[in-house]
Amino acid sequence: MKARLNFEPAAWDVVRADAERAFPNECCGFLFGLEDAQGRHLTEALPVDNAQTGDQRRRFAITERDYLRAERHALASGLQLLGIYHSHPRHPAVPSIHDLRVALPYFSYLIASVYPEGVHHARSWQLSDSGRFFEEEPLFVQREGAAVSPRLSITNP
Ligand SMILES: [Zn+2]
Repeated sequence: MKARLNFEPAAWDVVRADAERAFPNECCGFLFGLEDAQGRHLTEALPVDNAQTGDQRRRFAITERDYLRAERHALASGLQLLGIYHSHPRHPAVPSIHDLRVALPYFSYLIASVYPEGVHHARSWQLSDSGRFFEEEPLFVQREGAAVSPRLSITNP
């Protein structure tokens, strides 16, 4: 089990809105924040265009140019580029074989499962040390008073 992933509500709201906007296609974007012994703290989400040519309902692609933009943004803002999010329209937030094939080490891969009614749940994954499979990261949205976004599934640590 990987360390926990804590979302600032504003960053989570960006991911959720992007998943719902792009439906029935997949959305994608970058996740920024800081990492310490307690885990990863995501403070910002940056949507980018799904550059997949053809059917975008089951695939997403991010251009080299957008990767460079994201790295520059991290440098300029003093944050770390910690991961990538994308949506699974009408499918659970479990990585596909394709997701595993294109995953980079270290990054958190957040997947939001989205239906016509909205985002149903989200889960986050990181490559195992061997790079052969994904390990789940416990995912939380920090809300004052209320613990988490009601539509977000919680994985207990
Ligand atoms: Zn996927």
